[in-house]
Amino acid sequence: MDYVSTRNKKVTASASQAIATGIAPDGGLYCPTEIPQLTEGDFAALCAKDYRGRSADILGRFLTDFTTEELEQYASLAYADEKFGGSNTAPLVKLEDGKYILELWHGPTCAFKDMALQMLPHLLTASLRKTGEQRTACILVATSGDTGKAALDGFADVEGTKIMVYYPVDGVSTIQKLQMVTQRGKNVQVCAIRGNFDDAQSAVKKIFTDQASIEKLSEQGMMLSSANSINWGRLAPQIAYYVSAYCDLLNRGDIQLGDPIHVCVPTGNFGNILAAYFARQMGVPVAKLICASNENNVLTDFFNSGGTYDRVRPFHTTISPSMDILISSNLERLLFLVSGYNDTIVADLMQQLTEKGSYTVPTDVFANIGSQFEAGYCDDAQTKEMIAALFQEKGYLCDTHTAVAVKVYEDYRAHTGDTTPTVIASTASPFKFCQSVISALGGEVTSDGTELLDQLHDMTHAPVPKPLAALSGMKPRFDLVVDRDEILDTLTLLNTI
Ligand SMILES: *Cc1c(COP(=O)(O)O)cnc(C)c1O
Repeated sequence: MDYVSTRNKKVTASASQAIATGIAPDGGLYCPTEIPQLTEGDFAALCAKDYRGRSADILGRFLTDFTTEELEQYASLAYADEKFGGSNTAPLVKLEDGKYILELWHGPTCAFKDMALQMLPHLLTASLRKTGEQRTACILVATSGDTGKAALDGFADVEGTKIMVYYPVDGVSTIQKLQMVTQRGKNVQVCAIRGNFDDAQSAVKKIFTDQASIEKLSEQGMMLSSANSINWGRLAPQIAYYVSAYCDLLNRGDIQLGDPIHVCVPTGNFGNILAAYFARQMGVPVAKLICASNENNVLTDFFNSGGTYDRVRPFHTTISPSMDILISSNLERLLFLVSGYNDTIVADLMQQLTEKGSYTVPTDVFANIGSQFEAGYCDDAQTKEMIAALFQEKGYLCDTHTAVAVKVYEDYRAHTGDTTPTVIASTASPFKFCQSVISALGGEVTSDGTELLDQLHDMTHAPVPKPLAALSGMKPRFDLVVDRDEILDTLTLLNTI
């Protein structure tokens, strides 16, 4: 299967080339030229497999230059029981009839990013080998909090790679910051940026197209790669858990093959919900994709305005920081797919986004999006109310991001009366966002650092995830803070690791 750049279809790559380089040389994102279809027999076979088997199966349909044996091996390493707390990798919890929470945060860093970032290092190192790449892959990551730690954990001490993470200095939670600055491994670096996530992401994207830097690194035996969801190797593993959730519903007997479901996703960079869209296009009967945002509701406006994307608006720092994003990179892939792979339209829209910060999708193209997506948002107060209501009424403790999704879903259901079974993606452990969750439950935040974990545990009796409990007593290793225009200078640090 071929991959092409969303901005120029003449730029083609194999799956391993797309994964090795992360982003197309023209700044576009690699997209598969066809979407594999699941038959009835395929669903039956998938239902009989565990998560690892399902993951290898789905990946194999997209990554055609990998063997089944390779992918099965990677899946058993990436989703090993000891990494996912011995639990089912992606458990589907029934809240009440027709309402399910897909818990994607049982991995080593307690965020859904682990679902992809435990797999990506295997895919990337194999891709380097397959493409004959001799240089060290330097992975640059811009993070709104969770990707950074998940990528550090995935790539720490992985042969042939180095990793450098940039996070917004005031944009991450106490626990998220602690997780990153205490990261172990000899090939890792962490750097704080004065600015927000979009500043960090734009700065990192610029490095990827800065020929002078690329050449200089190459002379030193290094090449750049990405672990952000612009990399297809990040996105592909995420498709599997939506297919898996559908299989779990079938296995429980809650639905029959062919019955529609909705999927609701707390969205930032549009990676997770795009994976659900791919699952839908493969044949999982997803009727509606419900896109949930916080007050940075640029996507809500996009869907509800009939296709006008306008990032020129105030940036809000919210209690769901992993969704504090105004440039949702993966929307570019959706536009490419729904325009019938029209690279000219996509290149033009992306140029408008860079030049004036907004664009409007042609009506005929939006017509292919509008009926499949619903969108809504909520503010911090509503998010906190939802956390408290779920805990008090259902005994279910969730984090701020998941609460946004539940609230937006409840609004949709109240507004439409639609009771189609719905899978709500739960993207982080509540213990990653202790301050906000404690105060949502009416507690007073009396501590800082890892004591927060104990405070939330005492209030709720929910178990503290082991990797977070292990943070207490770990010494910070990284304290560098730079301005965003100094980010190019930080590349010299790659020589020191
Ligand atoms: C990254 C993240 C999101 C947003 O996911 P996208 O794929 O960027 O849309 C939502 N919630 C949490 C907890 C995250 O870490």
